[in-house]
Amino acid sequence: MQTKRIAIFGSTGSIGTQALEVIAENSNLFSVAILTAQNNVDLLIKQALQFNPQIVVIGDEKKYQTLKEALANTTITIAAGEAAIIEAAASDIYDMMLAAIVGYAGLKPTLKAIENGKAIALANKETLVVAGDIVMKKALEKRVPIIPVDSEHSAIFQCLVGEGRNKIEKIILTASGGPFLGRKPNFLVNVKRDHALQHPNWSMGAKISIDSSTLMNKGLEMIEAKWLFNLQPQQVQVVVHPQSIIHSMIQFEDGSIKAQMGLPDMKLPIQYAMAFPQRLANNFKRYDFKKPNALTFEEPDLKTFRNLSLAIDALHKGGNLPCIMNAANEIAVFAFLRNRIGFLDMTELIERTMNKIPFIEKPTLKDYFDSDGEARNFAASIIQM
Ligand code: NAD
Ligand code: MG
Repeated sequence: MQTKRIAIFGSTGSIGTQALEVIAENSNLFSVAILTAQNNVDLLIKQALQFNPQIVVIGDEKKYQTLKEALANTTITIAAGEAAIIEAAASDIYDMMLAAIVGYAGLKPTLKAIENGKAIALANKETLVVAGDIVMKKALEKRVPIIPVDSEHSAIFQCLVGEGRNKIEKIILTASGGPFLGRKPNFLVNVKRDHALQHPNWSMGAKISIDSSTLMNKGLEMIEAKWLFNLQPQQVQVVVHPQSIIHSMIQFEDGSIKAQMGLPDMKLPIQYAMAFPQRLANNFKRYDFKKPNALTFEEPDLKTFRNLSLAIDALHKGGNLPCIMNAANEIAVFAFLRNRIGFLDMTELIERTMNKIPFIEKPTLKDYFDSDGEARNFAASIIQM
């Protein structure tokens, strides 16, 4: 049987490495066609030697020589730089892209893969936050399936199987609440990066860990859900569920609610997206109903975690506002991770940028690129002051 040829964009990250574990466990079903990474050349070399892809690309051009020398005795094609990453997405040697680059940087390669007619397993939520209308339209045009990897969206996707044209009343995205659930601004003002990086239920890359601690992650996911499932903003709701057992729910028009559950483990949505519509047997840990464990639900604290309010605002206003918010957030998180600004300063930076950059109701792709650049420059200029 032919294997499904997977191109992992962002292979050295949290999602990328877990995807490679899934592939290693299921080598009868999957093979690796492309690996890309930004900086971590040592891990990329190790992965390339283990999985023998056809193309390997490193974003940081300074690492090209190291990569080339380490893979000299192989037949692997090696390239470096942003353009080379996008070019790899245009190649014909793969069947599915796992879009696991973090941030805005994932948009162009993913768009290229869609134009190229390749199926997408989408982890990179920022792609839909920035340009969801254009990405979904292009996918429809090219008949390209976009299968979510984000656990909440995978849950919704799984609940939709077999529902045909049945109408969704609303979806309920669950949020763990992050490491600072129940905390107030007087506590958050002093929070430092190492504390914010410690998520109670998931081990993830640095950016999404910070986004989870500010609840921006849930805001990004509301916008991601709107585009993936073609919903109106008011159909997307968030509930805090600290145990992260229910990964999200759909309420249909008859009031019936479907949920998808399990222990938090990203390998499950990753393998579901790669193998869809098949489910693959595995030995991941199972949830045990015999162990007393209350599943609880509460409202998110929008007054304290104002990033989520800003994202809800962007979700409702639409246009280029989510793109602007995303760019400012990336600058803010980057600055916080370098101890340049405080935890609550992130919100102020995002809000000021959202108020500053001109609103465009129906942006073109170029408008999105421009808005992203303008928002980054403005947010960075505030930090310099
Ligand atoms: P990560 O930081 O661990 O890894 C990011 C990967 O992208 C790395 O391989 C890195 O080399 C590459 N990369 C970074 N900057 C790049 C750039 N400018 N150009 C090209 N490549 C670049 O991130 P992650 O936690 O694996 O998250 C990846 C994406 O998946 C994010 O969009 C995140 O929101 C989403 N996601 C992650 C999780 C999770 O559990 N980690 C869960 C749901 C969704
Ligand atoms: Mg998620």
